[in-house]
Amino acid sequence: MKFATKVIHAGILPDPATGAVMTPIYQTSTYAQEAPGKHKGYEYARTQNPTRTVLEENLAALENGIRAFCFGSGLAAMDAIIRLLEPGDEVILSNDLYGGSYRQMVKVHARYGVVSHFVDMQDPKNVAAAINDQTKLIWIETPTNPMLQIVDIEAVCQQAAGKNILVCVDNTFASPYLQTPLDLGADLVLHSATKYLGGHSDVVLGAVIVKDTAIAEKLAFLQNAIGAVPGPQDCFLVLRGIKTLHLRVERACKNARKVAKFLNSHPKVGKVNYPGFKEHPQHKIAKKQMRDYGAMVSFDLLKDSFDDAVKVLSNTQLFTLAESLGGVESLIGHPASMTHASIPRKERLKVGLTDSLIRLSVGVEDVDDLIDDLEQALVNL
Ligand SMILES: *Cc1c(COP(=O)(O)O)cnc(C)c1O
Repeated sequence: MKFATKVIHAGILPDPATGAVMTPIYQTSTYAQEAPGKHKGYEYARTQNPTRTVLEENLAALENGIRAFCFGSGLAAMDAIIRLLEPGDEVILSNDLYGGSYRQMVKVHARYGVVSHFVDMQDPKNVAAAINDQTKLIWIETPTNPMLQIVDIEAVCQQAAGKNILVCVDNTFASPYLQTPLDLGADLVLHSATKYLGGHSDVVLGAVIVKDTAIAEKLAFLQNAIGAVPGPQDCFLVLRGIKTLHLRVERACKNARKVAKFLNSHPKVGKVNYPGFKEHPQHKIAKKQMRDYGAMVSFDLLKDSFDDAVKVLSNTQLFTLAESLGGVESLIGHPASMTHASIPRKERLKVGLTDSLIRLSVGVEDVDDLIDDLEQALVNL
């Protein structure tokens, strides 16, 4: 099955009980048994729920894995993955990591003896240098937030090969429409389905997809033993969102390309970060491992002024000032005062995260209206 068919059909059959074409929301906590232990495969809804099962089978197909596991959020999914490790184990992670993932590693898992190393993965040699006998997991995020750096997934997986080290890719920014890390050598894929998979900014949900049965069994155990599962209505919303994933991401990428070009030629704009530009330092890697360049764009102002950035953010009409990304509507954010405010300014500047850096999640509106909106917000600086 090709991708556009999978999003609509993989794992999805008319409901066996009624023939309902859309997967029903099985709003139940438990299931009747005919005799003790004699049941239809469903005993208790933390362990299994038919709406969740359909979503998990669909996600496994989209990422070319064998099984998927859904959780109450992307961070709950991450927590389950880290619990595959033992105290004393070490993890190597991207240094330009989603803030919540960073916080979970240093404020939660560190207390239980899991050691984190943050390295610049733009050069896979930095990963090789950080590997030691205790290394059990490599955590890649690509494209990164908000600098839109690209990590060569295949090259990093090669560094881990034969060393009994798992590689997990947080595929939230790309979505499986643009990139399938399991095909490039990764062992696990993480999604915040809150973003592109859900796609309508109306649900919080996470998922892990794997390609190995032994890891699948451990995660199935953890999913049930810890119990951070999503409710059936949230599973339904993500299933519904996924049906148009390819259409939404295709259009959002097209819009982002035009928005990035517009910004790049604007006299008030400084540097534009967009992996689709030939000048982007990892453009070739993006071209190799992604179907398109994504719909996230960040840029700063030629005069690097915090106040001017705030003016732009306050003046857009269509771009809504908000955290998150990946919905049909375009969002605008200011990392220095919002998502990355907790990182000291000196550290922010080291990675190019200037005071005026603005991040866009480009949606699927008419691109002419989006460009007009940015133009009117920039013109009066
Ligand atoms: C949002 C996000 C997460 C966390 O997901 P939640 O669903 O908010 O828990 C993890 N990684 C990335 C890249 C994200 O954007």
